[in-house]
Amino acid sequence: MAHADATITVDMDQFCTRCRKKGAMQNGLCILCATRTTMEDLSMGGRTKGNPKARHADEQAQPPLIPMSREELDEAAQDLAGQIAELEEMEADHAAQRKTMRDTRNALLGTIGAVASTIRSHGR
Ligand SMILES: [Zn+2]
Repeated sequence: MAHADATITVDMDQFCTRCRKKGAMQNGLCILCATRTTMEDLSMGGRTKGNPKARHADEQAQPPLIPMSREELDEAAQDLAGQIAELEEMEADHAAQRKTMRDTRNALLGTIGAVASTIRSHGR
């Protein structure tokens, strides 16, 4: 019994914590997932270590807020003002476009109406 430590015990009443299939070993994984995990660990060179949620949080972490100098604040305000001006210009532009389209549509409707009444008066 020198190799007792190498014995793999699969408990068929346990579910794999990874794929939820029946039959898990002491570490909570089925043989397939245990093998896969081992292979990943080997190929990733240990980069999969650590809590995935913690890694995700690190990636999502916002950069710390750095206090802005007076000049930087002024510059940011200028930027914002410029963007607001751009937005207002865009809105005015779109309003003008909508008016043009409405005029075109009304003109077209007028033409259709005129043509229709011409056809009607000549169709008898
Ligand atoms: Zn599994």
